[in-house]
Amino acid sequence: MSENPVWVNEKRCKGCDICVSMCPAGVLSMRLDSKMILGKVVEVSFPESCIGCRECELHCPDFAIFVAEKGEYKFAKINQESQLRGEKIKANAFLLPQEYRESK
Ligand code: SF4
Ligand code: SF4
Repeated sequence: MSENPVWVNEKRCKGCDICVSMCPAGVLSMRLDSKMILGKVVEVSFPESCIGCRECELHCPDFAIFVAEKGEYKFAKINQESQLRGEKIKANAFLLPQEYRESK
């Protein structure tokens, strides 16, 4: 079994936001990081909400994000809370809004 539903190779991530824009479950967000090319890198903020849809992995142009196989991880089901969080992250320039940072 995999320990994580989704993970990132930060060396390959160029901070394009695509995976965050594709995630329906508010799992991913961007983290500001001055060492990265575009000044940001993707972060798996809410792994427990990942539904295993693979949209992030399929659309990453740099093969930098990976999703566990269905048989390897018990993924969550989509719910209103995670959908709403995803919408708020997208509306916040793909960064995690303050309200969710405080809850972590
Ligand atoms: S789509 Fe790939 S390169 Fe772009 S932010 Fe996500 S992991 Fe990084
Ligand atoms: S597999 Fe789907 S739910 Fe999980 S992080 Fe990727 S896009 Fe989001």
